[in-house]
Amino acid sequence: MREDIIESKLRILKKSKFRSSFHLRKYMINYIDEKGINVIKQHTRDFIIKKLLNTNPNDGHQTPMKSHPTFIAMHATSTCCRGCLYKFHHISKDKTLTNNEINYIEQLILTWIKQDYKEYKNGQKK
Ligand SMILES: [Zn+2]
Repeated sequence: MREDIIESKLRILKKSKFRSSFHLRKYMINYIDEKGINVIKQHTRDFIIKKLLNTNPNDGHQTPMKSHPTFIAMHATSTCCRGCLYKFHHISKDKTLTNNEINYIEQLILTWIKQDYKEYKNGQKK
């Protein structure tokens, strides 16, 4: 996936009041510092496969709004459920995700986490 596609998606998401209201909390920053970004990346891939690979009868409720940095990133990037994936990323709800789609979602989430992490460390947040 080309980086400029990811960047432009993230720019559009930041214009949404709802999506841009999500940020990493201090305990999530600490968790990233403790585990390292590669572990977060592995968790992210596991969550995508567990929560999004196939249409879920519980769709819209499978991703908590707290606890893991990836969960917050999923809400911020509109990849929290198949409904949001369809609405913002135009990925049909009625199919199994392809490897390319999984990679796209993973890259989007990881890029968001890295950006929000950097902003936090730069003290740009209240
Ligand atoms: Zn959702």
